[in-house]
Parts: sequence; C-alpha cells; structure tokens
Amino acid sequence: MSLEELLGVIKNFEVVDLSLPYVERMPVWRTEPPYHRIPTEGPELGKPYFRSALLFLHEHHGTHVDAPLHYHKGKKSIEEFPLDKFFGPCLVLKVEKKEGENVTIDDVKKWEEKFGEIKEGDIVLVNTGWYKRWKLLPEGKGYLINMPGITEEAAEYLANKKIKMIGVDGSIETYKPVSGSGYYPGHEAFLTRDIIIIEGLTNLDEVPPRGSFFLGLPLKIRGGTGSPIRAVALVPKK
Ligand SMILES: [Zn+2]
Repeated sequence: MSLEELLGVIKNFEVVDLSLPYVERMPVWRTEPPYHRIPTEGPELGKPYFRSALLFLHEHHGTHVDAPLHYHKGKKSIEEFPLDKFFGPCLVLKVEKKEGENVTIDDVKKWEEKFGEIKEGDIVLVNTGWYKRWKLLPEGKGYLINMPGITEEAAEYLANKKIKMIGVDGSIETYKPVSGSGYYPGHEAFLTRDIIIIEGLTNLDEVPPRGSFFLGLPLKIRGGTGSPIRAVALVPKK
C-alpha cells in the first residue's frame, strides 16, 4: 500500500481522546504524591517569550500503563517492550457497573455471544461508565474509592486468551480484595503473562464494541514500572 492509499484509509477514521488531563488537584492513589506543575520561567530567560514547567508526575498518575515490574521484582520494565505492544485493534466491553461492583466472567461471555469471541492479540478495553465520575479534588475524591473492578475469574479468563493489553476506566482489581493478603488477582493474572494494563481510560462511550484501533505509547523510562500515555482510539467515521 502506498502512503497516499494509507492516508486515504485514515481519513475514514476519527481520533477519540481516551486520556484524562494532567492538572493540579487531579485524583491520585493514596500511595502516590500529588501531581504538580511548577512553572520554571524566570526573568533571567529574558525575551523573547519562553515558558516551561517542571512536572511532578508519577509513573501511575492519570491515564497510564502498568509494566510487569510494577508487581513482580525482576520482571520487565516498560521500556523493554517493543512499541508494537502498545497499539492494535481494540474491543470495548461496555458493562455498566456501580460503586463496589465487579465485571464478572458472565459479563464477558455475554459480550462475546453478542459481539464475537475475544481472541489472542486483541486489546480489550472495559467500559464500566466509572470514568464519568472523574472530577478534581476535593469533589473527585470518590473517584478512587470503591471503584468497580474485574473478578479474579474474569481476569484469568481474559488473560488465558493471551490478549495484548487490558484497559479499564475503573480498577483492574476485584473490588475488595482480601486485605493484607498481598495478592492482587488482576495484576497477577495480566502482568504475570506480560499483558500490559492500561488504567484511567475515559470517553469509552465514543468507541464502538469492535472495529477501532487503539494507540497509547509509553515514555521511554529506563526501569519504569509504568508510564503515562496519551491513549487514543481511531474510530470509523459514521
Ligand atoms: Zn498503575
């Protein structure tokens, strides 16, 4: 295919932004320091107009990916994956969940009955509708509490299919895992098999169940346990 032909095909797709903004008072996990953007411009820079800023950005702030090293000592860090790991055809499993509910294996199988089997290499994005609760703090403090998750059974089912990546707008973990157990079935199921996890997705209502292309490249952080990404979907125009 020539470049002209490829550009002709791309014209039939629109770009949907699946990323949350990086902004002061964005919700972050309680184990992480808050996000800050500190302007570094000073009068010594003089003219012409220069502006820049220092970011206090955690690897797992906002819309980001988790590398196996996030959960397992000695496993792969984010920059060790080839870039083609981070894009490909995507499926969107829309299963609306409320506070404290989990996506079950039944939800996944029902989706498959309706939209077709999930296969090896698919990028699976789970849309629970939770992303609509994202707000700046303090109003948004409920966003990270009692998030819908994925049951262990559903996580194992998807991971055994050797999907390429799993993305969520809620949590990858089962709501209320056994506290203090040190065992996190969502991270275990996917990261043990080198399946990258995407967390903090938004705008998933704008992506149909099938037929779109996901892209979310990580920063090249040596030894990174994860990385912020700009997640987008190329969605066929109606
Ligand atoms: Zn993470």
